[in-house]
Amino acid sequence: MSRSPHTRVLVAGGGPVGMLLAAELGWYGVDTVVLEAADATGDLPKAGTLHARTAQSLARRGYLAVDPGPAETPATAATTEMFHFAGIPALAITAPAGEPRSVLKRAQADLEREFEARARERGVTVLRGHTVTAVRQEPDRVEVAALGPDGPRTFSADYLVGADGARSTVRTQVGFAADTSPATVSAMMGQVRFLEPDLMPQGWHRTPRGWTVARVGPDGQGLIRTLDCSGPHPDRNAPLTLDELRRETSRLVGHDVPMSEPRSLTRFGDFTRLVRGFREDRVLLVGDAAHVHFPVGGQGLSSGLLDALNLGWKLAHTLRGTAGEDLLDSYDAERRPVAQRIIDNTRAQLVLMHPAPALDPLRNLVTEVLALEQGSRHIGDMISGQETVHPPRSARPSPREGTFLPNLRLSTDAGDTDVSTLLRDGRPLLLLFGEAGAGYAAQARGWAHVLRTVPVTVPPPRQTQAQTQTQAQAQARWQAQDIAAVLVRPDGYLAWASDGDALAETLPLWFGAPRWSSEPSRKAF
Ligand SMILES: Cc1cc2nc3c(=O)[nH]c(=O)nc-3n(C[C@H](O)[C@H](O)[C@H](O)COP(=O)(O)OP(=O)(O)OC[C@H]3O[C@@H](n4cnc5c(N)ncnc54)[C@H](O)[C@@H]3O)c2cc1C
Repeated sequence: MSRSPHTRVLVAGGGPVGMLLAAELGWYGVDTVVLEAADATGDLPKAGTLHARTAQSLARRGYLAVDPGPAETPATAATTEMFHFAGIPALAITAPAGEPRSVLKRAQADLEREFEARARERGVTVLRGHTVTAVRQEPDRVEVAALGPDGPRTFSADYLVGADGARSTVRTQVGFAADTSPATVSAMMGQVRFLEPDLMPQGWHRTPRGWTVARVGPDGQGLIRTLDCSGPHPDRNAPLTLDELRRETSRLVGHDVPMSEPRSLTRFGDFTRLVRGFREDRVLLVGDAAHVHFPVGGQGLSSGLLDALNLGWKLAHTLRGTAGEDLLDSYDAERRPVAQRIIDNTRAQLVLMHPAPALDPLRNLVTEVLALEQGSRHIGDMISGQETVHPPRSARPSPREGTFLPNLRLSTDAGDTDVSTLLRDGRPLLLLFGEAGAGYAAQARGWAHVLRTVPVTVPPPRQTQAQTQTQAQAQARWQAQDIAAVLVRPDGYLAWASDGDALAETLPLWFGAPRWSSEPSRKAF
């Protein structure tokens, strides 16, 4: 068995989440190896939606700005896109001005390829065709066995991240405890050619027997998903045949729907799993390895990518010795409640999707709530991740600690900029607002090796036609409020604000002990 040189981080699984984490670690110069079972990215249709907070976070780390398509160009006004909740097409999801559009359409496979390319460019070793088979933790390292194209190989690393999907070998090998609930519904999916396209209802279609969700092109090529709420698949792993998909589709819509040319046929259900801790010593889980739920509302990919963005900088600082003792534990404290919330909302959606007429009054009530601006805002912020506020870590936290800093326009000595642009280099930011903020620079001097300190002013709101009142209000609020300085984490959340604890007491929680002799470095550290 061949043995590979020790590395700082091994990422098991190079799906979209593992590849994004690898790209982040590569950015920070962390020696990283990805072990991915597949020889190439598969084109099985999976997720196609990026929700608002994920798009905002990717933009802050420079993943959406490199090749901006029209939909990715930061909007000068708030954007609202219509989405659905439990198939009710009345959910308005709004993102603030200065951010990517509130719902972005991106194929999962394209994202995975893009993140892999970034990871490789940044020096990450990506070993495709390598399946992780065994994991063993030692006090000072993790040992991993994998089967590669040339036979068995062993690897060792300071940390192992399991990004190996719902059936994670890392999770089972390490023995992560999890809360699960069995499947209650049966769903099918496949790409087919509809021989009589007009017979297949387009989009979300509710029937007395269940649901179909179809996208049919003019040539009849399309994607069909079915949902039967009467019970789980008797055998979830039995291969799905075209004949069975056709029979199920026809039964649900109430007439025969002929189809041919099957591809990527699969069964799925609403089995849920949430591990009880995202970290076991030197092993961490991200994405589907840590949490799975019914894929309704397009939240699986978006939340996994946010796991990667939350963990990347924390691992990098921990490995460099520029993190507080328990910074890595904050990954679990911040991301597990979000995963629980998604599991809960997908289960609520499935209840609402049950075709029983007895549920019609409940569906009607939810439809009424979605029609209210407040109702749509509440549920839209939940589905899009924009409601996320991390638990504070300071003893006497500012009410702003843990919130996501809006993409404010800022004036600096070097010219006008914004929060998103300043975060692109991946360093934590200390923003000093005007004269009141200047005094905080002295408190932060011992952390010059990690922080980027930027004196700023918030320019007055521009009341142009392109700007909504909401953006002007956000800008004005930050201008008027009594905040002299904020500490912004590399992922855009506030670690501290000047109406909380003293900065010098909070900084060690995040970035360890001060270093008085260090000179500020140019790159991320
Ligand atoms: C049919 C279907 C439809 C979906 N629809 C949506 C949707 O509309 N919207 C949405 O947001 N989400 C959807 N999802 C969920 C979404 O695809 C997942 O949340 C997303 O793929 C999670 O990414 P990941 O990187 O965590 O895991 P994965 O994408 O599963 O990637 C895991 C990677 O690990 C590799 N791997 C596995 N085991 C090993 C091993 N032992 N060693 C090495 N490598 C290994 C795999 O080859 C794979 O590349 C859907 C999922 C399915 C199955």
